[in-house]
Amino acid sequence: MKDSHGRVIDYLRISLTDRCNFRCVYCMPESGVCSMGHDEILRIEEIERLVRVAAGLGIRSVRLTGGEPLVRKGVVDLVGAITAIDGIENVSMTTNGVLLPAMVDDLRAAGLSRVNISLDTLDPDQFRAITRVGRLEDTLAGIDAALEAGLAPVKVNAVTVRSLNQDFLAFAKLSIDRLLHVRFIEYMPVGNAEGEGGTGWGKADVIPSEELCELISAQAAAAGLPALVPASKSSKPVGWGPARYFEFPGAAGTVGFISPLSRHFCSECNRLRVTADGKVRPCLFSDHELDVREALRNGDDEVVRAVLLEALGAKPDEHHDKVGTERNMSQIGG
Ligand code: SAM
Ligand code: SF4
Repeated sequence: MKDSHGRVIDYLRISLTDRCNFRCVYCMPESGVCSMGHDEILRIEEIERLVRVAAGLGIRSVRLTGGEPLVRKGVVDLVGAITAIDGIENVSMTTNGVLLPAMVDDLRAAGLSRVNISLDTLDPDQFRAITRVGRLEDTLAGIDAALEAGLAPVKVNAVTVRSLNQDFLAFAKLSIDRLLHVRFIEYMPVGNAEGEGGTGWGKADVIPSEELCELISAQAAAAGLPALVPASKSSKPVGWGPARYFEFPGAAGTVGFISPLSRHFCSECNRLRVTADGKVRPCLFSDHELDVREALRNGDDEVVRAVLLEALGAKPDEHHDKVGTERNMSQIGG
């Protein structure tokens, strides 16, 4: 299906829950989000039906996210059910990785093809400070488990924030020996970032990808490593979306840069998002939402279809530098 700006929309990103076993400072308040009631959250069968209708309209890829998708009861069955839907070509997930060692084999057997694991630092104390409750070794074990289970590609997503002073070269080096695709994502000041209880991080904390790429190359040169070069077509991971990829010559994996702020990739946007409480969001950065839960509960497939098509028609051409949204990322799904 095409939107009114001629873009092919074939990717659906679904938040399964707003709950999480972490409390990342840039994503949710320390006390957690004011959790949605049981009845507000889309049921597993409702999500499956939504995907079936969306597949009929041309959706080919589904990414499950959250909150933390792996804390959602029934997630393995959901992966299996969605994988079996005619037209769906791949089901992927974005996770903090903590529950992967226990679940990855079942997820793989159910049809999960690839995974993005979020990890912002390799320093254990900083990891605890960012996630408030998490342990670095748990997420690292999740990465190992994903690689061992044969999920491919395995991508590691790091949000870059100037005030955090992360060791970017250490991250980039993760791509040298193992088939890992490390991606740096510009921090997005959404939700209540600069309000009471927020991180206080604002636009000045966004590190433009161009600047970061130069910084990593300079650090690599100082460490006696070769410079990053644009990744060859064959090394780029499947589903490379809006990232620009580089590699250290001879490395197993790649280093990618995703620049939602410094380089709009709106013209390549291929997606719709669905929140855990069943609202379709035409654009990550806009709070315009359409209620598909009501359609799923009280309408037939035609009504569900109509909501998806209305959301499609409401996709803006670009986000026009608007990055604020009322909701935190944990509610939208990132
Ligand atoms: N819990 C899972 C995880 O952390 O991978 C999935 C949900 S999380 C909301 C999805 C992604 O959004 C994560 O990679 C997270 O780092 C990213 N994210 C959250 N808040 C963000 C922000 N303000 N700016 C940029 N990325 C953000
Ligand atoms: Fe949880 Fe992911 Fe948000 Fe961190 S970024 S609090 S892991 S939903």
